[in-house]
Amino acid sequence: MKIAIFSAQSFDREFLPLMNWEIGHELTFFDTSLRKETAVLAHGYACISCSVGDDLGGETMEALAKNGVRLIALRSAGYNQVDLAAAEKQGIHIVRVPAYSPHAIAEHAVALLLALNRHIPKASNRVRDLNFSLEGLMGFDLHGKTVGVIGTGKIGSVMVKILNGFGCKVIAYDLTEDDQLVRSEMVRYTSLEALYRESDIISLHVPLTPKTHHLIHSESFAQMKKGVYLVNTSRGGLVDTKELISALKSGQVGAAALDVYEEEEGIFYHDLSVGMLKDDVLARLLTFPNVLMTSHQAFFTREAVSNIALTTLLNVSEFESGKTLSHQVRASTHYFPLAAR
Ligand code: NAD
Repeated sequence: MKIAIFSAQSFDREFLPLMNWEIGHELTFFDTSLRKETAVLAHGYACISCSVGDDLGGETMEALAKNGVRLIALRSAGYNQVDLAAAEKQGIHIVRVPAYSPHAIAEHAVALLLALNRHIPKASNRVRDLNFSLEGLMGFDLHGKTVGVIGTGKIGSVMVKILNGFGCKVIAYDLTEDDQLVRSEMVRYTSLEALYRESDIISLHVPLTPKTHHLIHSESFAQMKKGVYLVNTSRGGLVDTKELISALKSGQVGAAALDVYEEEEGIFYHDLSVGMLKDDVLARLLTFPNVLMTSHQAFFTREAVSNIALTTLLNVSEFESGKTLSHQVRASTHYFPLAAR
C-alpha cells in the first residue's frame, strides 16, 4: 500500500525501509510536518503515517479526508495530538503503536535522574576544560530515597522495577493497581496527596488526557516535599510549565529532568541552533542549572525504533487486507489500562 510518511526523520528513512523489506509497502517520505496547509501532500495516499509533532486537529482531518486519506498510522503510543472525533466524522481510521519498548523510556528517565543528581553534564564539561574541581557537584544516594511513580502501566512498572534495583522505596499512584508489582512488594500504592507528601523524587508515567492535563500545578507543588526532584518523560502537558518555573525559583522543586515540554511542537526535533528560540517559557526553563532537558528522545533506542517501524507497517497491512485493526484508537475509546497491558 502507498504510505505518505510525514515528519520523516533520518531514523524513519533508515528503519522503515529496513522493516518493510519483506512487507512491501510503497513508502514516500516527507520532511515536513503535517498541518492543514501541508495536508495536500497526502493527495493520492489512502494511508499516511504521522509522529507526535504533527497537527491532527479537526481542520487537518477535513483536509486529509478531501485528499482521500482513510488511515493514519501513528508512529507513537500517545495519541493526545489527534482529534479522534474529527477523524471518525471524516471516516479516517487511527492506529498507533501501543508498546515498543517500555524499557527505553524508563531507562531514559533514570538516565536523566542520575545525570541531574550527579551533575554529569556540568562535570563532564568541566573536565574537558581541565577544571577538576568538585565544587557544586555533590549529589545524593538514590538508595533509600522515596520515589513516587505516577502511572504504573507498561513504562511506569519498568520504572518501579529499576528503582527497586537502586534500593529506593517506591510508592505509586494509578487508577488501577498492578497486582504483580504489589505481590512482589516492589511498590506501595498511595493516594496522590500522600505520594506528593512522601516522595523525594516524583516520576510521571500517565498519558496526557483531559483528566491529566496540568496534573502537576502550583497546588500540587505546594503539597510536595521542599526540594523534590521531578522527572517527566511522559507528556509536557502533564505539568504547568509556568508554575514549575515558579516552584524552581522558590526552591520548592529542587530540580527537574524533562524529556517533554508542553509546547514542544515545532521546536523539538528541529535544529534551531543557528536561529533563535521564540518560546520565552522554554528559554527561561533552560536558564536553570538544576533543569536537565532532552528533546523527546526517551523512545530513541535501536530496539524501540525497530519496533515502531515494524508495528506501523503491520498496522497498515491489517488495514489493507481488511482485517480487524488490532491497534485502532477511537473517539469512544475509554481508558482501559489493563486491556492495554
Ligand atoms: P500505559 O497505558 O501502559 O500506562 C499508563 C498508566 O497510566 C496506566 O496504568 C493507567 O491506569 C494510568 N492512568 C491513566 N490515566 C490516569 C489518571 N487520570 N490517573 C492516574 N493514573 C492514570 O502507557 P505507557 O506505555 O506506560 O506510556 C505512558 C505514557 O508515556 C504515554 O501515554 C506517553 O505519553 C508517554 N511516552 C513517552 C515517550 C517518550 O519518548 N518520551 C515514549 C512513549 C510513551
